[in-house]
Amino acid sequence: MVITGGAGFLGSHLCERLLAAGHHVCCVDSLITGRLENLAAFENNTGFTFFRHDVTKPIEVEGAVDAVMHFASPASPVDYLRLPIQTLKVGSLGTHNALGLAKARGARFLLASTSEVYGDPEVSPQAEDYWGHVNPVGPRGVYDEAKRFAEALTLAYHRYHRLDTRIVRIFNTYGPRMRPDDGRVISNFIVQALQGKDLTIYGAGTQTRSFCYVSDLVEGIIRLLFHNGVSEESPPATAEIVHQPFNIGNPTELTISEAAALIIRLTQSSSRIVHHPLPVDDPKCRRPDISRARRLLSWEPCVSLEDGLARTIDYFRSLKTV
Ligand code: NAD
Ligand code: UDP
Repeated sequence: MVITGGAGFLGSHLCERLLAAGHHVCCVDSLITGRLENLAAFENNTGFTFFRHDVTKPIEVEGAVDAVMHFASPASPVDYLRLPIQTLKVGSLGTHNALGLAKARGARFLLASTSEVYGDPEVSPQAEDYWGHVNPVGPRGVYDEAKRFAEALTLAYHRYHRLDTRIVRIFNTYGPRMRPDDGRVISNFIVQALQGKDLTIYGAGTQTRSFCYVSDLVEGIIRLLFHNGVSEESPPATAEIVHQPFNIGNPTELTISEAAALIIRLTQSSSRIVHHPLPVDDPKCRRPDISRARRLLSWEPCVSLEDGLARTIDYFRSLKTV
């Protein structure tokens, strides 16, 4: 299993999960936003290899390859706004190289896409057949359009080269191994609450998000990766739909103000709330319609927000830097 971006938050959990299932895992990562410490739990596993490499350059790995999972990309708004060209390059050139590796080795390919392909959505919840509402020339366009291009390229490889592809549209995910300084809302609020600092709500805090705990996300991705496109229910339809995008996320939606209040309560913090300006093109709502994943993967999240946040707070408490 080749995992690009394997030293990042999500990639490292995938590496760990696949190693635990007995697979050999090759992590390819430039460490531009990832960290070697994310690999510490399994770096001595004999089935694991790490290859420091920028995947916008051609990727070469030794041995047989069964699957290429393309997770490399700056992912938090703070990261992709400071790395706009790298973000566009890894979504375009990086996806092309990862697809090329899968094609050359006869491997299955899975793309980590995002709910950001829906932009600032005009419908809620967002189902996979919604085409989205994206500003291509706004600051977030570097990420949104890179991922939309990556999806188009993935399906072109499927249709033209008959590559066996999967696309997962990941909604906001949180959990251990998030960087304390990645700027995402859950990590910001937990770190601020633990340090007794003001929690920074951008805008009025009425915008919504739906947060998925990392182990639930990984389970959904693994089910999609290993789904062979055959179902007793309706074989021909399932065979083609498995190549279409799948929303994986938690449909429990809350406002950012509610998220701040919950984190203050769970950390028993005396922090207060301050309001900062809302970033440009910040989506007003986000909630996945997960009917497709429920139906075809028999998947749905099982970790409640309170439980997931409690585990994430414990993780941040264990860090010397927080
Ligand atoms: P992350 O920043 O922790 O991990 C991304 C990894 O990719 C890092 O280790 C980074 O060093 C690596 N990388 C970036 N550019 C690279 C390049 N050119 N060559 C090689 N390695 C490179 O982010 P994450 O949250 O783990 O996100 C992983 C993937 O999931 C991304 O593709 C992201 O778009 C997608 N995603 C994440 C979320 C989320 O909530 N975390 C939501 C939607 C989509
Ligand atoms: N946000 C916030 N305070 C913060 C960080 C983020 O209010 O300290 C808001 C942000 O404006 C957005 C939501 O929280 O409305 C989620 O932001 P995040 O960066 O986690 O990811 P996004 O869903 O925007 O990609």
